Amino acid sequence: MSAANAVPSRIVVVGASAAGLSTVEGLRREGYTGSVTLIGGEEHLPYDRPPLSKQLLSGEWDTDRLRLRGEEDLAALDLRLRLGSPAVALDTRAREVALADGSRVGYDALVVATGTRARRLPGTASVRGVHVLRTLEDALALRADLAARPHLVVAGGGFVGAEAAAVARGLGCQVTLVTDTSQPMGDALGDELGAMLRDVHHEHGVRIETGVLVDRIRTAGERATGVRLADGHTLDADVVLVGIGAQPNTEWLAGSGVPVGNGVECDATLYAGSGVWAAGDVACWLHARTGEPWRIEHRTNAAEQGLAVARNILAGPQGAAPFDSVPYVWSDQYDLKIQIYGRTRGADEVRIVEGSTAERKLVALYGKNGRTCAAVGINMVRALRGYRTQVAAAAPLLTRSAA
Ligand SMILES: Cc1cc2nc3c(=O)[nH]c(=O)nc-3n(C[C@H](O)[C@H](O)[C@H](O)COP(=O)(O)OP(=O)(O)OC[C@H]3O[C@@H](n4cnc5c(N)ncnc54)[C@H](O)[C@@H]3O)c2cc1C
Repeated sequence: MSAANAVPSRIVVVGASAAGLSTVEGLRREGYTGSVTLIGGEEHLPYDRPPLSKQLLSGEWDTDRLRLRGEEDLAALDLRLRLGSPAVALDTRAREVALADGSRVGYDALVVATGTRARRLPGTASVRGVHVLRTLEDALALRADLAARPHLVVAGGGFVGAEAAAVARGLGCQVTLVTDTSQPMGDALGDELGAMLRDVHHEHGVRIETGVLVDRIRTAGERATGVRLADGHTLDADVVLVGIGAQPNTEWLAGSGVPVGNGVECDATLYAGSGVWAAGDVACWLHARTGEPWRIEHRTNAAEQGLAVARNILAGPQGAAPFDSVPYVWSDQYDLKIQIYGRTRGADEVRIVEGSTAERKLVALYGKNGRTCAAVGINMVRALRGYRTQVAAAAPLLTRSAA
């Protein structure tokens, strides 16, 4: 590529999941006919992660249903698909990616879509009965362990932990959920809706320990026997799921000059400099409207950013448009469909504007400094959609009668 705005002739995308796939599809959709290489560390064709803690874990779906695209659709994209050998280093001067198998792949534009991996408790990687839940293998291993209806302790009350707890109860396991927040999913939902969710889990027989961290796993030999909590007391367990969040996969960028902090640090257009762009869970971009760095671990965001990066690469750094969208995430637990538009974190006010916690059917608006920053729906899919524009516009927080 000679000039800054020339269309690159070789585009390489590292990370073959939601964001990476959406990038390569976006490139072809925009009419790009140059060379596209998709590099994936996993052996699998791109698959979807949200069902891992839902339909796959429960046994309702088998692995084939997780595939994001069939082989024919992928073939139609005319990709060089390099699966099973992760990128291990990046040379931005030579514009080459080094793979674990020793090969090097040259590029004119590079997209980092390497996502995140599950955080682990130190020293537990080889302890039998201790799981994380990020990959297909993780989900299958946990599913196999849950088949014996063990006593499961879930360390972490975020989306993944709360969903897995619900599924495990459905499978007949004894379940204890430990969260350092005051309620399950308290970080995302706040106290009032979190308390409703706690009640739902209680009704389904989940024991919940709030406001406390799991300090370490107790073992006998190489097998987990329980956990010790930070307040000193212990819980027995046959199986432990550690759901304490995720960290961006950026180690392979060390020494490359690509700015890395909480993910790949990009400008508002998802550009990180030196011909490198980022998309999905790994991208930390300057959100133009708020002026804040945002990194979002949601499925829809990954797909939207992939498409945006494809358009921006073809437009070149000078013609690229800032990425902006209303974040959206959902969670399925028992018969609850929880959906969130926007960002609830930092909200200083929550108003239920339709339905009620008693009905387990509601829309709640979250406000920050009097402005709507998020809308949360519980089992109100259609009604919630109507509040999306209010979140997008950061409109003044409406009362029930005005809504
Ligand atoms: C169990 C679970 C349930 C979820 N449920 C929901 C939900 O209900 N709703 C929702 O909105 N979101 C959900 N999410 C989040 C959603 O799945 C992620 O936001 C989405 O997968 C992000 O896509 P991504 O492509 O950015 O990253 P990832 O899906 O993390 O994919 C990154 C890919 O890059 C690969 N990779 C990493 N390093 C390298 C390397 N060096 N070289 C080559 N390849 C590499 C990884 O192996 C992986 O395949 C869930 C996530 C999990 C784990």
